[in-house]
Amino acid sequence: MMGVLEAPARLFYDFDLEAQVPANHMLRQVDRFLDVRVVHEALQSHYSHLGRPSIDPELIVRMLVVGYTLGIRSERRLCEEVHLNLAYRWFCRLGLDGKVPDHSTFSKYRHGKFRDSDLLRVVFEAVVARCISEGLIGGHGFAVDASLIEADVDRQNSSPQTEWDTDAINRDVAPRAVREYLDVLDDKAFGAATAVKPKFTSHVDPASQWTAARKGPAIFSYSNNYLIDTDNAVIVDVEATRSIRTAEVGAAQTMIDRTNERFGIKPDWLVADTAYGSAENLAWLVKKREIIPFIPLIDKSERTDGTFSRSDFEWDDDNERYTCPEGKHLVLTRRNYSDPRRKEPRKGRRKYRATKALCDACPSKMNCCPNTNTRYIAREEHEDARDFARLAAKSDFNSKAQAKRKKVEMLFAHLKRILKLGRLRLRGPCGVQDEFTLAAIAQNLRKLAKLRPQTTETRITI
Ligand code: SF4
Repeated sequence: MMGVLEAPARLFYDFDLEAQVPANHMLRQVDRFLDVRVVHEALQSHYSHLGRPSIDPELIVRMLVVGYTLGIRSERRLCEEVHLNLAYRWFCRLGLDGKVPDHSTFSKYRHGKFRDSDLLRVVFEAVVARCISEGLIGGHGFAVDASLIEADVDRQNSSPQTEWDTDAINRDVAPRAVREYLDVLDDKAFGAATAVKPKFTSHVDPASQWTAARKGPAIFSYSNNYLIDTDNAVIVDVEATRSIRTAEVGAAQTMIDRTNERFGIKPDWLVADTAYGSAENLAWLVKKREIIPFIPLIDKSERTDGTFSRSDFEWDDDNERYTCPEGKHLVLTRRNYSDPRRKEPRKGRRKYRATKALCDACPSKMNCCPNTNTRYIAREEHEDARDFARLAAKSDFNSKAQAKRKKVEMLFAHLKRILKLGRLRLRGPCGVQDEFTLAAIAQNLRKLAKLRPQTTETRITI
C-alpha cells in the first residue's frame, strides 16, 4: 500500500541538536581545534562594562570559519545557511532557535573591533600553535610562494599611468579602500615595493596591482603569500602584498622573521621558485639568517653557443680571483695602488679580467672569447651567497626539497577550487589581508581535522 505523508500530530519533541551532527562532519572535526577563548581575551579591553550586551564576537568568528571552511563566499548567503543548517547551528552554538545576526554585522565587526585588536591574526596564531602542539610542524624545512588572486574591481573603472595622481585624492570623501591605499604608500609590501608606476590604477581599489603575470588578459590582483612547513603543509604565516616580485620577496622575509619571533621556529632550509632567487634575497637567507636556500638562481651566465660559461671558471676566495680553464688568473685590477683601500672590492657588480697578452696566446681563445680581445667574468656583490645556492642545488636533497615545494602550490589550488577564493570579495589591503588570514585559518583547521581525526577512542577520552 502506498504511504501517504501526514503532518505529525506531536506538539513537543525531545530533540538533541548534538546528536544530529554526524561524527565525521567537517565542522565537528574542526570544532575540536578551534580555540575561541582567544577571541574574548583579545577583545576584553575593547568593550565597556556598561550598556547593552553586544552580539558575541565568538559567534561572528565561528560563522566566518563556517563560511571559509566550506567555501560559502557571500556573507548574506552564510547567514541564510547558518539559519537553516543544523550542523552550522551546532558549530555556532546557536541551538535550534538562536538568532542569526544580520549580514551587515560582519562588516561592522571587521572594520571595528576585529581590526583594532588584530583579532583574525590572533585566531590564526592560535590555530598554528595548536598545529605545533599536535606535532604537525617539524620546523626544519619551509616553502614559500605567492599566488595571484583577482581583486574585486572592474577593469574599465581605472586610470592610465599618465592620468593617475595620488595627490589629487581628497581623503575626507574617499572610500575606505582608497584611504587604506593612501596609508600603505610607504609600506614595502605595497607603495614602496617599487618606484615603477603601474600601467593602470583602479579607482575603487588603487592598492591592487595591474598585472599580466597570469599569462592571459591583464587583471587587477593582490598576491597571497604563504609560508608553509613542508612536513604536513601547514601554513605557518600568511601575508597580502601587491602582485610584484619585490613585494613578494619582502613578504617572505617578513614571514620568516615573524614565525621565529612568535613561535621560536627558524627553518634549516627554505625552498622557493626562481622569483626568490635574487642575489640580495639569497644573501639575506644565507648570511643573515643562516638558512640553506633551495632556490633556482636568476642566472644568465650559462652560455649556449659552445664557449666557456662562468661555471667553467673557478673562484679563489683567498686570493680574490678567478682561474680560467687554461689555468690563467682573472683579477679585478693589476695596478699597484699606493693606497691599499683602492684595491678593496667595491660594492655592486665587479669585473675580473685576464690580460690581452694571455688570451692572445691561448689555444682555447676561440672557445672562450672569439669576438673580444680578452675575457672578463662579472661577479655580483653577493656572489658568495649565489655560489652557496648553486652548491645546494647540486646536493642530493635538492630534488626532495623541490618536490616538497609543490605542497604550497597544492594549497593555492585548493584555496581557489575548493574554498572558491579565485576572486576577492573585500577591497583594500586590510580587507584583503582579512580574507587571506581567514582562508589560512580554514585550511589549517581542515588540515588538523584530516590528520588528527576523532576516533572512537578519542571521543571516549573527551
Ligand atoms: S682566452 Fe684567456 S681567459 Fe679564456 S681560457 Fe684562454 S687565457 Fe683563459
